Amino acid sequence: RRKWRRAVEMLQEFEEGCATSIGRLRQVVDAMAVEMHAGLASDGGSKLRMLLTFVDNLPDGNEKGTYYALDLGGTNFRVLRVQLGGRGSMILSHQVKHHPIPQELMSGTSEDLFDFIARTLKQFVEQEDDGSEQKVDEKKELGFTFSFPVRQMSVSSGILVKWTKGFSVEDAVGKDVARCLEEAMTKAGLNMQVAALVDDIVGTLALCHYYDKDTVAAVVIGTGTNACYVERTDAIIKCQGLLTSSGGTVVNMEWGNFWSSHLPRTSYDIALDDESPNSNDQGFEKMISGMYLGDIARRVLYRMAQEADIFGDDAYNLSIQFIFRTPLMAAMHEDESPDLREVRRILTENLLVRRLIVRVCDIVTRRAARLAAAGIVGILKKIGRDGSGGVASGRTKGTPRRTVVAIEGGLYAHYSMFREYLNEAVVEILGEEVAQNVVLRVSEDGSGIGAALLAAAYSSN
Ligand code: ADP
Repeated sequence: RRKWRRAVEMLQEFEEGCATSIGRLRQVVDAMAVEMHAGLASDGGSKLRMLLTFVDNLPDGNEKGTYYALDLGGTNFRVLRVQLGGRGSMILSHQVKHHPIPQELMSGTSEDLFDFIARTLKQFVEQEDDGSEQKVDEKKELGFTFSFPVRQMSVSSGILVKWTKGFSVEDAVGKDVARCLEEAMTKAGLNMQVAALVDDIVGTLALCHYYDKDTVAAVVIGTGTNACYVERTDAIIKCQGLLTSSGGTVVNMEWGNFWSSHLPRTSYDIALDDESPNSNDQGFEKMISGMYLGDIARRVLYRMAQEADIFGDDAYNLSIQFIFRTPLMAAMHEDESPDLREVRRILTENLLVRRLIVRVCDIVTRRAARLAAAGIVGILKKIGRDGSGGVASGRTKGTPRRTVVAIEGGLYAHYSMFREYLNEAVVEILGEEVAQNVVLRVSEDGSGIGAALLAAAYSSN
C-alpha cells in the first residue's frame, strides 16, 4: 500500500509540474510572439533563428507545366514529377519514387553523393517522361527540398552550415548545395536547374497555399518540430530594405529551439536534456515532438519503478533510453478496452499499474499538444490574426479574416489524442468566435510536391 501511495504522489507531482492552465498558455503565446520579434530584429537576437527563405511568392494554382522535385532529408530521398494544369485544373498528376541512400555515400565525398542523386534523377526523368509535355532538350526546373541547416542566399541557393541525421559528407559543408547538385546534373547529362532550394516546412506551406490562399503558416510535428509563416518584409528589421513584390516573405522559424521560462519544465525534462547529445538546444522540440514524448513518459515510469517499486520485474524494460517509442505510447494511451489489453501486452500484468501508465501518457501528450497550440497562436498573434486586433493586422478591430495553418507530421496526423488536445487548446486560447476563422489543415507528405510547386512559381521559363 505504501509504495502505491508513493506512486500516486509522484503522479500528482508530475501532473502539477506539467500544468498548462489557460493563463500559462497565454504566457507562452506572448513569449512566442516576443521571441519572433527579437529574432527578426537581429541575428542571434533570440533562440528563434527566424531564417529568411527568400520565398516571397507562394504558388497560387495558376502554375502550369511539368516540374520536378528532389527531397533529401534523411536516409531516403525521393524524386517527384508533378504536372500542373494551370488555373482550375490544379495538379493533374504526380509520380514519386523513393530511394535509399547507400550507407557509404552518407560519409563519403560531396561529388559521389550528388553524382549518385543526379544519376537516379536522370533515370527517373527518362523512365517517366512520356515526351508529350516537354521537348526533350528543354531545360527542366527542379525544386530541391534539403532538410539540413542551410544559410540561404537566394531562393535557389544556399550554403550548407552542417550535416545532421547521420550524414557527414564533410567537403560539402560551406558549399552551395544547389550548385553541387547542378554540377552533378550537368555531368550526368541532365538539362535541369534548381529553381528553388527550400526546407521541407516551406514545401508544406507552399502546397497548402496552392490549394488555399488563406494559408499563412505551416507547422510540422513529427519526429522533430518546426514552423514557418508569411511575414511582412517591413517587419524584418534585421534585413532592412528587403523588397518583394508581394510585400511579404516566408520566414523559417526553427521553432524547435524556442525557449521561455513560462514553459512548464519538470526534472524529467531536465534529465532528458542533460543526457541528450544536444543539451540546451531544441528545448521546445524536446517537450512537444515525437522523438521525445515516449522517453519523457518512460523516465517518469522508471522513477516510479525505482522509488515506489510498483513494476516488479517489468522495471528493467523501463531503464533503457528510448525503448518506449511514441507510437507505442500512443497505442497504450488510446487503449479503449476496459482491462487495458494493449498496455498489458506492452508493459505489465497489473491493472492498477496499467491505469497509472495511461495517466502518465496522457499528461505528457496533453502538455505537448497544448504547448504546440500556444506556439501556433503565438504566430497568429505576431501577424495579427489572433483576433486581438493589434496594429500588425493593419485592419480595423473585429474584421474576421479566414486564416489557415497547415499542419504536417506523424504526431498530429496519427496520434488522435494529441490532435484533439491541440485543436481544443487553440479554441480555448483564441475563444470560440475567433477560432471559427482559424482552420488547421492536415497536410500529408506535402513538402516534396510543395517544392515542385515552388520550382513552378520560380521557374525562369
Ligand atoms: P518525420 O518527422 O520523421 O519526417 P513523420 O512526420 O511521419 O516523420 O513523424 C514520425 C513521428 O511521428 C514518429 O517518430 C513518431 O514519434 C510519431 N508518430 C508516428 N505515428 C504515430 C502514432 N500512431 N502515434 C504517436 N506518434 C506517432
